[in-house]
Amino acid sequence: MAAPAAGPMAAAADRRFDFDVIVLRGARALLLERFDLLRGLGSSHGESRTIRDAYPDARYPPMVRLARRLWEGAEAESGRRVLTPAPLLSLGPRSDASVLAAAGNAGAEEVGDLAARWGGAFRVPDGWVAAVSERGNAVLNATEAVRMFQALAAKKGAVVRDNAEVVAIRKGPEGGVVVETSTGEEFCGAKCVVTVGAWTSKLVKSVAGVDLPVQPLHSHERELSAEAGFPTFSSCCAPHFVYITPSLERPGMIKINYHGGPPCDPDSRDLVSGGGDVVERVARWIDEFMPGRVETAGRPVDRLPCMYSMTPDEDFVIDFLGGEFGEDVVIGAGFSGHGFKMGPAVGSILAEMAMDGEARTAAEAGVELGHFRINRFDGNPMGNAKDL
Ligand SMILES: Cc1cc2nc3c(=O)[nH]c(=O)nc-3n(C[C@H](O)[C@H](O)[C@H](O)COP(=O)(O)OP(=O)(O)OC[C@H]3O[C@@H](n4cnc5c(N)ncnc54)[C@H](O)[C@@H]3O)c2cc1C
Repeated sequence: MAAPAAGPMAAAADRRFDFDVIVLRGARALLLERFDLLRGLGSSHGESRTIRDAYPDARYPPMVRLARRLWEGAEAESGRRVLTPAPLLSLGPRSDASVLAAAGNAGAEEVGDLAARWGGAFRVPDGWVAAVSERGNAVLNATEAVRMFQALAAKKGAVVRDNAEVVAIRKGPEGGVVVETSTGEEFCGAKCVVTVGAWTSKLVKSVAGVDLPVQPLHSHERELSAEAGFPTFSSCCAPHFVYITPSLERPGMIKINYHGGPPCDPDSRDLVSGGGDVVERVARWIDEFMPGRVETAGRPVDRLPCMYSMTPDEDFVIDFLGGEFGEDVVIGAGFSGHGFKMGPAVGSILAEMAMDGEARTAAEAGVELGHFRINRFDGNPMGNAKDL
C-alpha cells in the first residue's frame, strides 16, 4: 500500500543500484519509504478501515469486489487475518438520491426497527432511511494489513527500504527511470510507481512540473465504547458525512470520525490539535444520532492524527504521469479518504500498468479506469462531474 517509488533492486555498485521492474510475476521490485515502516505519519495506520461497496457512484463497487478477492487471497497466502466481517448500516435522508443509490449498490435492505438489532443505539430522524447490508462488508485492521503486504512483498523477493525519501525522479540516460533519495542514493529501473499519498502534489510538481490537485487534509479519529457486534456505519448525507467502525483491537470501543478535515501541509502538521473542530462536530453528531448511548462530555478516549489526500471530485488518480516520462512512471494518488479498502486492487492495477502498459485484471473485473485520468483537471478544476 504505502509504496512511494517502487521497483526492485539488485546488485549495488557504489551508491548506485540497478533494478528491473515491479514485484509481480518474478520481476524484481524495490519499495522506498521515507519514514520508518509502519511509523503512522501518512494515511494507512490505525486499527480499522471499512470495506463496503455502498458507493453512490456505481463505478467503484467493481473495484471493491476485485479488492475483496485480493484481500482474501493475501490473507490465505500470508496466514494472517486482517479482515473481520461486519454488517454495514447506511443512514441518510430518504430524499437524498445518493443515499438511496449507495444503499442500492451495496445490496442493502431497509430495516424498520433498528432497535431490535442494535438495542436502540441509533436514533433515525423522521424522513430518513436506515438500510443494512450483510454482503461482504468488513473491518480491516489497517496497520496489520500494511504489515501483511510488506511481508508478502519481501517474501516474493521485493526489497523494502525505510528511511529512504525520494527527492527526485528522472529519465534514465539509456531509458527507464532514475530515482534519487535525500541521502544521494540513486536507483535505476525500467519503471517507477509513485504512491506517496498526501505528498503526491509536492513530489509530482517537483518531478514533472505538473500541478495535481491532491489536497492533504488533517483528520482525527475518535474511539468510543460500544457493544460487541456493532456494525460499520456510514452516513453519506451533508453535513453528516460520518462513519463508524467497531474497533476490534480494543474490545468495547468504536471509532467515529468525520469524512474530511482542514487542509494541511503534510510536512508541518500540528499532530496534537491540528484536526480542527472534529471532536466538537463528532460530539454534536453523537448527541443527535446516538443520544444517551455514548458519553460526549469528556475528551475522546483516544485521538489518532491521520491524513486524507483529497482530489476536488474525490475520485482517485490512477494513470501514467506522461510528459517526458510517458508510461515509465505510474501514479496512484488522491484516494480521498476512501482508498484503503481498494488497496490490493489499486496495487495490482498500478503494477500491471507499469509492466504491461495496461491493467487487464481491472478490465476483466469491470473496473473503468478512464474515470481516474490525471488530465481530467486540465481546464476543469473540479474534475469529474457528479450525477448524484
Ligand atoms: C482517519 C481515516 C479513516 C479512513 N477510513 C477509511 C475507510 O474506512 N475505508 C477506506 O477504504 N479508506 C479509508 N481511509 C482512506 C485510506 O486510509 C487512504 O485512502 C489510504 O490509506 C491512502 O493510502 P496511500 O498509500 O495513498 O497513502 P499513505 O498510506 O500515506 O502512503 C504513502 C506513503 O508514502 C510515503 N512517502 C511520502 N513521500 C515520500 C517520498 N518522497 N519518498 C518516499 N516515501 C514517501 C509516506 O511516508 C507514506 O508512508 C481513511 C483515511 C483516514 C485518514
